Amino acid sequence: MMEILGCRLDPIDTDAATDAITGFVRERRGAQIVTLGTEMVVYAQKDAAFRQIVNACTLSLCDTIGLLAVARSRGASLRERVTGVELIERIGARAASDGLRLFLLGGAPGIAQRAALTLQTRYPHLQIAGARDGYFADDESVRVVEEIRASGADVLFAGLGSPRQEVWLARHLRATGCGAGIGVGGSFDVISGNVRRAPVVWRRMGVEWLYRLIKEPKRWRRQLALPQFVYLIAAESMRSRFSKRRA
Ligand code: UDP
Repeated sequence: MMEILGCRLDPIDTDAATDAITGFVRERRGAQIVTLGTEMVVYAQKDAAFRQIVNACTLSLCDTIGLLAVARSRGASLRERVTGVELIERIGARAASDGLRLFLLGGAPGIAQRAALTLQTRYPHLQIAGARDGYFADDESVRVVEEIRASGADVLFAGLGSPRQEVWLARHLRATGCGAGIGVGGSFDVISGNVRRAPVVWRRMGVEWLYRLIKEPKRWRRQLALPQFVYLIAAESMRSRFSKRRA
């Protein structure tokens, strides 16, 4: 475990994360898992409650290239990002062979259901306990929790966007009875084919963010977090070097 700008990060790859999460499910831990992104770390600087939620998670996984670069520069031997899409696919494969049931919560109406269908086709033995959209009001949460609990799901994937999915899981995961709850952002859009991921070459070059910016220019405001992140990291590294020299 390490800390980047006050946020917990567990520098483990997708394989290890899949093993850990299926372990939590078997132990019925009710473990919350966050796929941590650069924007989330920047946001956590001004929202202490959100930072606390991230730091209270059982696992905090490295979802973006910016965090990957920082984690590596501080000695972590991480090979890759751990994305929501890949986690869903890997845990889906494992769930199909181990008989674990998944619940997909989030996205526009119909998207989670379509993602469920795609997974079901890929892993015929997979049991989907349920799927529903993420456009419900906060005061409907109790009903949503009840729906998930009644479905008997073991793993809950929450794709409500950040910070909503982290806050929602922190508040409601226990009551759903699921062994693990994982925030996965816009992953259902990708799995359902609603949104396309960047071509592999772009991803290898670490510029998937640029692809998304070109495809969805509305995101530019959110991507302002990137230069802020670089600035904050430079300041943090300088502080730590300075205090080491004084010690
Ligand atoms: N979303 C939702 N409920 C909301 C707001 C957003 O289910 O109240 C969904 C939205 O449809 C999308 C995802 O949350 O599927 C957020 O995706 P985005 O790409 O913005 O998040 P990121 O992956 O960057 O965190």
